[in-house]
Amino acid sequence: MDLGIAGKWALVCGASKGLGLGCAQALVREGVNVVIVARGAELLQSAAAQLRADAGTPAGTAVEAVAADITTTEGRASVFAVRKDFDIVVTNAGGPPPGDFREWDRDAWIKAVDANMLTPIELIKATVDGMAARGFGRIVNITSSSVKSPIDVLGLSNGARSGLTGFVAGVARTKLASQGVTINNLLPGAFDTDRLKGGMATAAKKSGQSVEAVAEARRKTIPALRFGTPEEFGAICAFLCSTHAAYMTGQNVLADGGAYPGTY
Ligand code: NAP
Repeated sequence: MDLGIAGKWALVCGASKGLGLGCAQALVREGVNVVIVARGAELLQSAAAQLRADAGTPAGTAVEAVAADITTTEGRASVFAVRKDFDIVVTNAGGPPPGDFREWDRDAWIKAVDANMLTPIELIKATVDGMAARGFGRIVNITSSSVKSPIDVLGLSNGARSGLTGFVAGVARTKLASQGVTINNLLPGAFDTDRLKGGMATAAKKSGQSVEAVAEARRKTIPALRFGTPEEFGAICAFLCSTHAAYMTGQNVLADGGAYPGTY
């Protein structure tokens, strides 16, 4: 299926590895020019080289890399110094750490809200009016299945991402919807990335089990009996960014191998 977005420009945040890189990869394969962002310059440059060299990347597709912390005002300014008029924005940053809410002080909460709620809102604010003026725009926020089914040790994520989800539900249904701009959230369940591996390593250490035993137990909780791949996640993201998804806005799209147990 031709997604109808070749030649568009996308900003993909948190894209040196994992889900963000999966999204960037799916977009460049559609001929979308991308600006990818992450803090670590070395891994980011090698991700950019990988995207350029990907056999599926159409000739002439531009891949630019900006090493920046997207959760800071300065970081966002350095991205927008490279380009402002994005047609597609995929918001993403690292998730907050797990823990017990009794141990989180105000600073821990501010950091989580900054990264997982206010940063996507700032990115939306900076780009949607330009998208509306040009008559096409796609925002995809990478959030988490935790907004539908909270994870006890991820209270910072449950809380901060729910704030973003509420904001998106409102803004997606404004005049922007009649101006070609869609805003959706893409909710990962368990995907095979360093973030998931890190969480399982911590759980293994705590329980005295091997990492493989923890991984196997986790897989068994998923009806698909496996973790998702960044490639699968990227393909869903690219579809949400496509011309075919123009009538989908304000949605929370869950990709979790059937793990969420609810009917709705
Ligand atoms: P990952 O493999 O750890 O990759 C995170 C990416 O984001 C890296 O490229 C990282 O590079 C970049 N990043 C982190 N903080 C950043 C910042 N402040 N500014 C710019 N870039 C930043 O994580 P992932 O699994 O892809 O997860 C992506 C998001 O989905 C996270 O918010 C995570 O909590 C959420 N999520 C993931 C899963 C899962 O199963 N994987 C499930 C639910 C939710 P640098 O560190 O170099 O900046």
